[in-house]
Amino acid sequence: MAEKWRVAAVGAAVALAVLTAGCGHGDNSAHQSGSSAAVSTAEPAAPTPTETDVNDNGTPDSDPSDRDWPGKMTVVYEDATTPEAIRGRKFMEETNLLPQLADDINDTLKLPYDIPVKGEQCGEANDFWTPADKAMTMCYEDVAGNLDIFQTADFKDPRLAAFHAAVAAFYHETGHMVIDIYDLPALGREEDVADQASVYLLLRPEDDGKIDQDSVDAVRDEAFTFAALSDMNNGEVSPDELADVHSPNRTRMVNMVCWAYGADPDPLEDLVANGILPEQRAAGCDDEYQQLEHAWNTLLGPYLK
Ligand SMILES: [Zn+2]
Repeated sequence: MAEKWRVAAVGAAVALAVLTAGCGHGDNSAHQSGSSAAVSTAEPAAPTPTETDVNDNGTPDSDPSDRDWPGKMTVVYEDATTPEAIRGRKFMEETNLLPQLADDINDTLKLPYDIPVKGEQCGEANDFWTPADKAMTMCYEDVAGNLDIFQTADFKDPRLAAFHAAVAAFYHETGHMVIDIYDLPALGREEDVADQASVYLLLRPEDDGKIDQDSVDAVRDEAFTFAALSDMNNGEVSPDELADVHSPNRTRMVNMVCWAYGADPDPLEDLVANGILPEQRAAGCDDEYQQLEHAWNTLLGPYLK
């Protein structure tokens, strides 16, 4: 089994920065910034055209391969003061989560400017891409909440599962990020498209042509959190949830495992066997994934390293 993501205790690079598009687990309320003892080091400045961005006739150059891509993703930890946030921050630092995510983005995407991924106390379990700041926020409360979910569910390794779920949640936010920074057309509801992006980015074959099994587990574990949240409401979906920009949790769960099953059926066969992914839906998941993959290859291809 490939081991792309390591849940290891490694010292993390630290810097600090400032902050709103809601995401994550159903709660789409406005982002409440907690303590903002934040010092900005990253500069979310708008990209400025360089000479290579402009053709001889002065018109913008639309060919990404001709542009400069000087940006990189940087890591920021903001203060944590509540017990929940302190627990989440500790987990992020102990597992070296954010530097691993930033490294993966820096290996994968051409970035026009530096983009911080920030661990932050948000006052809610959520994660955000903030277009105005060109910044990603992973809330300490979200990883702490996922730890609770996996511990309550008696997972053999709840920390690994919580780490996986955070990786997949990060790639959902990355979906919002690429739509924004590359001005990509989103053919569908953006939240669904961001879920598609997370599966696509995680399950792109490695250099050896194989799909990283840790990343399959990331999709599976993130899907489990959606199932757990749905179960908390006994599977009932309120009118507010039906009206939300996100699909209902149960739908998001089935979507994600369907697309992952379409990409690589073997490791997820048990989900079909036990009915979590209904056979009727499973039969079309290969086609769904191929369509999704084609769309993202087309849109994102010019921006992949
Ligand atoms: Zn979202």
